Amino acid sequence: MEALKRALRKSPEKLKLLTELVEASIDGTRDIFVNRPLNMANIRYIGFDMDYTLAIYHKQAIEELAFRKTLEKMVEMKGYPEQILELRYEAEHVIRGLLVDRQKGNLLKINRFKQVCRVMHGTKALKSDEYYNDKIDQSDLVRFVSVDTLFSLPEAYLFVLLVDLAEAGDLPGRTFAELYDDIRTCIDLTHRDGSLKTEIIADLPRYIYKDPHLSLALDKFIQSGKKLFVLTNSEFYYTEQVMSYLLDTDNLEYESWRDYFEIIVVNARKPAFFKESNPFYRVDEENGEDQPMQETSFDSKAIYSQGNYLTFEDLIQSKGNEILYVGDHIFGDVMRSDKDSNWRTVLVVEELETELRHTEELREKHLRIRRLANRFDKLHYEMHVYSSQLDTLANLSAPLVDDFNEAETKAVTKTVEELKTNLALCQKDMERTELKIQRLREEMSAHYHPLWGPLFHDHDEMSRFAVQVRDYASLYTSRVSNFFFYPTDRYYKSLRDIMPHDRWMELSG
Ligand SMILES: [Mg+2]
Repeated sequence: MEALKRALRKSPEKLKLLTELVEASIDGTRDIFVNRPLNMANIRYIGFDMDYTLAIYHKQAIEELAFRKTLEKMVEMKGYPEQILELRYEAEHVIRGLLVDRQKGNLLKINRFKQVCRVMHGTKALKSDEYYNDKIDQSDLVRFVSVDTLFSLPEAYLFVLLVDLAEAGDLPGRTFAELYDDIRTCIDLTHRDGSLKTEIIADLPRYIYKDPHLSLALDKFIQSGKKLFVLTNSEFYYTEQVMSYLLDTDNLEYESWRDYFEIIVVNARKPAFFKESNPFYRVDEENGEDQPMQETSFDSKAIYSQGNYLTFEDLIQSKGNEILYVGDHIFGDVMRSDKDSNWRTVLVVEELETELRHTEELREKHLRIRRLANRFDKLHYEMHVYSSQLDTLANLSAPLVDDFNEAETKAVTKTVEELKTNLALCQKDMERTELKIQRLREEMSAHYHPLWGPLFHDHDEMSRFAVQVRDYASLYTSRVSNFFFYPTDRYYKSLRDIMPHDRWMELSG
């Protein structure tokens, strides 16, 4: 509330931002979801990854840029035909959480039981029984590659298009695995040699969405006594440009983006930051070079690089469960920090907003499926009753039938006929109902994504991506500014301890 009042005093512009923020919170797409209980009152330090966490990228623009730069490198360095430069990027083709099968040239969506739900070979959908006898061993890192971050979507889509070209005979002498490896090498290079970042910096508004509410959320944390830090794998020059674009002009109380953060660590080399023991360096801002860190505590005016979590904890004199880390990468940010360091974690899943909006749009259809499923169960029960009655009559009639008079025989025959008719009607009705359910399911699934369906599910089962989110992140939400909606000392409670019969939860909902 204090942050709200303070912000209101600032300017009418702030009032507008706050009104928008409150409106955005109403539809529930900006909620924070809880996997494991987290008491914010115990958290002293809150750290943030930068790319796709503090900085939200414009999907089509950034992915298309990475795609185009990679294609150029493939022609230049790997001798691919120039015709590939004409390939066009479609941002919506691939979703996060898929697996690339390098060996077969396929993209797979798998569920929590490692069963393949959907398969694409190039742009062609295959039946999932393609993998009927194949056990998907995700630890087979030679064969399978996981599409973990939004950064990896362009390479997955490029693979899709090159598999099509290979099947058309346009890329002779290259196996699917080689295609994938060439893409990987070239896309890595666009990230490392600065060619991607130079273009982004030259036109930041084109590539980065400036969340107007980010500064409000950070300010609210700071006002409540939390200490904030940035821990990013990006280099200093890039971090400086992006963060300055995001925060420098937003709030007059903070002259520079740096004023929001107590500690800034660039080039952090996650996940190595959580596994290895690289020392911290102090970045010389004149030339961007790392100098040995002499000081025994972090200087809030300095920029640090590399480092490791144990030294970090020593320097700030805090333990794992007093530190909350917010990132978008399941393995780099969340899984490693959760497993190795005991830091509490928040996963940013920006797709949540669209996913939840779709679910809301499908509310009527969800209810219709529930009604149809109830009807199916009822018909199933009716069939069981008719069949048992028929069985009873068939068993009874054998020894007794000789004693039946004509009227009794007729009555039994009539009853048997009626039961058979009812049974046949039930059977048909069940088939129709089942078909309706199936069609409705397909329609709903395509509403989320025409090729891959919903991100977190497939046919009533959780997707592999959903299981990772559930298992590794304490909290998850669509963006950092959503924390503004919640008290900074909130006790986030988990829904995991709910029994299947706990309907009061739905009612109190
Ligand atoms: Mg990131």
